[in-house]
Amino acid sequence: MDCFAALAITGLDLCIACPGKTLSEPGLLMRQGASGLRICLHNAAMPRSSQILAHAAGALPAPGEWQSARPVPLLANLQRLTAPNPGFMTGPGTNSYLVGDAATGYFVIDPGPADGEHIARLWDAARHADGSGGHIQAIVCTHSHADHSPGAAPLQALCTQRSGHSPPIWGLPSAPTARANSHFVPDQVLAHGALLQLQAEGAPQHTLMALHTPGHAANHVCLLLTQDGMLFSGDHILNGSTTVIDPPDGNMAHYLDSLDLLHAACVQHSVEFILPAHGHPMPDALGAIAHLKAHRLKREAKIAAVMQANPAGDPDQWLPLAYDDVDARLWPVAKRSLLAHVERIQLLAQSQAGLP
Ligand SMILES: [Zn+2]
Repeated sequence: MDCFAALAITGLDLCIACPGKTLSEPGLLMRQGASGLRICLHNAAMPRSSQILAHAAGALPAPGEWQSARPVPLLANLQRLTAPNPGFMTGPGTNSYLVGDAATGYFVIDPGPADGEHIARLWDAARHADGSGGHIQAIVCTHSHADHSPGAAPLQALCTQRSGHSPPIWGLPSAPTARANSHFVPDQVLAHGALLQLQAEGAPQHTLMALHTPGHAANHVCLLLTQDGMLFSGDHILNGSTTVIDPPDGNMAHYLDSLDLLHAACVQHSVEFILPAHGHPMPDALGAIAHLKAHRLKREAKIAAVMQANPAGDPDQWLPLAYDDVDARLWPVAKRSLLAHVERIQLLAQSQAGLP
């Protein structure tokens, strides 16, 4: 029996799989956002899924429940530190993830915006065995957008200044289609399929596999933590909001192809959880990807029907009809995704008509 099952049955605040440990122990546990269920993760021998601490409940937690002041332990080798940049486009803020432990050092995934306090907290969270910070082996950016990559260079500079060690910045360079505030040049190019490893005693302990997933951004990569069956999805898959596809750097055909690629990778590596850059972890990785693809195709069918009914119309005329179920305040953002769908619909129509 895992901890989650034990709690569901007993309703106790005591984890019966880990005698002597109470669930209110600070730093070990976190209350689940919507349902209030608590899950224990400190028994590393438990099945992988039961190690998840901040379990996804679908709905985002109430305002104030998210905090950026402290790292939240999710697994023995995984911490989440949310940047203090909550907002319309970023939800509770950008999740920076630290993968690793005191023996191996850490990967920092998505250091977020160039926020001095957040960067100092990332430094502190990457602890050596003696408790001192800065044990950062590499910084990895899922993509170049302003809420993800600008913190990379200042974090690297802080490491250099305090320890003399300069962890490399990994990622894909921004494409020429990227907006001016999303220009990004990594130190090391993270090719599709590349493996980043943290080692201890000569053996790899934590391995990130890079998966090139264009769609939200042309230089977007997801990262698969192979030993634990976790997928860091960046902004390709979010919890609590829908990814915006903003052409030309965003591309709907690429986005859907990347979803298929992620589905295949999750099957191959038995991935259970998706860890998005915004929002809670998501259980049932395969179900979440299938749901997302169906949601996109449903929207696309609606847009195609609106276009068919008014072929002489333009996107501004199609938008209120195709997104009549969405709050009008979101329409300016929805219009970007509508344009991406229109691009794909026209491409599919051309190929069906046998045109080049
Ligand atoms: Zn983002």
